[in-house]
Amino acid sequence: MSISSHDSSVQTFDLQALVRPNIRSIKPYSSARSEFTGTAEIFLDANENAFGSPPHEVRIERQQALHRYPDPLQKAVKSRLAALKHVTVEQLFLGNGSDEVIDLLIRGFCEPGQDEILITPPTYGMYEVSADIQNARVLRVPLLLCDGQYILDTDAVLRAVTPRTKLVFLCSPGNPTGALLDAASVHRIVQGFHGIVVLDEAYIDFVPQATFVPLVQSYPNLVVMQTLSKAWGLAALRLGILVASPDIVRVLNSIKPPYNINALTQEYVLHALRHPQWKEKIVRSTVLERERLRKALSESSMHELIENVYPSDANFLLVKIRAPHNPRAVYAALMRAGIIVRDRSTVPLCERCLRITVGTEQENTRLLEVLQVEVLQAQQGIVLS
Ligand SMILES: *Cc1c(COP(=O)(O)O)cnc(C)c1O
Repeated sequence: MSISSHDSSVQTFDLQALVRPNIRSIKPYSSARSEFTGTAEIFLDANENAFGSPPHEVRIERQQALHRYPDPLQKAVKSRLAALKHVTVEQLFLGNGSDEVIDLLIRGFCEPGQDEILITPPTYGMYEVSADIQNARVLRVPLLLCDGQYILDTDAVLRAVTPRTKLVFLCSPGNPTGALLDAASVHRIVQGFHGIVVLDEAYIDFVPQATFVPLVQSYPNLVVMQTLSKAWGLAALRLGILVASPDIVRVLNSIKPPYNINALTQEYVLHALRHPQWKEKIVRSTVLERERLRKALSESSMHELIENVYPSDANFLLVKIRAPHNPRAVYAALMRAGIIVRDRSTVPLCERCLRITVGTEQENTRLLEVLQVEVLQAQQGIVLS
């Protein structure tokens, strides 16, 4: 008997009926890179380290080991990280990027259709995407914009949480705000909230003295996330770090994919972590360039086009374009010149804003040159729209 698609015994296949209802309507994360198509030379859109990666020492000499699975608990990497961060190996969890850590936290703690996370927008997009996938509700308590500074609405956060709120996500320094959160406010939330506070410190290497890692000892409900993707210049390796109590680490270990950190990443990270002084040098260069860029963008010659450059403790600047000029037009002009930045102008509380990653000296100079040309046009009364 031949099998034909007209055979009445063949069930019709309805994909949409199989997909979970909340997945059908999911709004996927849109990365800086996926929003851009074309060719560009200067990438100031994803907050990567423009200066490169720590010195390479890894040649795949141990290729013979690739037929074996990697260490599921990444003991060698963790013991080096533990020494660098003054924590114990049992307090560390590693993810395939912080993005996997976020996803596992939500899957481990939020019952689908019942539990909630709380976020403080404008903030990193993956908290909400992972919550949507898990079908966890998302409570939003926006940051306050006070005298040009983004601050936590601490009282509103503590009022908004319910017995169903399992995780509160805070980001410090914030993305896209660039601002460190007030430490006293973070303490108040950790003390006043019955669930877990996830403090995302993806940019903490630019303000290392502000880290909350030492406080994980005193607060059993505080977890701190860091990453090798930003200051360390290793975004392609995908390594996210969580510091938490051994009990929380055990929960995450019990649900993670067994071999979530591949062998080449473990090998490479082990070598890279031998060069913390390389990272520190890059951080110093980045901060110097950030302040040079801020000064240049804040000069009176830029006033026609730029209304405000927000304070930043990270490796990017949030820049507000002055009306009537359209931030999208400035974005497009930069793109025509081969420079990609991140358009945040449609994000609530970031209206008219572009987020610009600090590049190398040469890249930043080029950015300033292109913006100067736009300023000249604007000064001739041409509205960039
Ligand atoms: C870039 C970024 C991350 C992502 O880190 P990965 O380790 O590359 O997944 C997490 N949180 C914030 C706030 C970021 O800006």
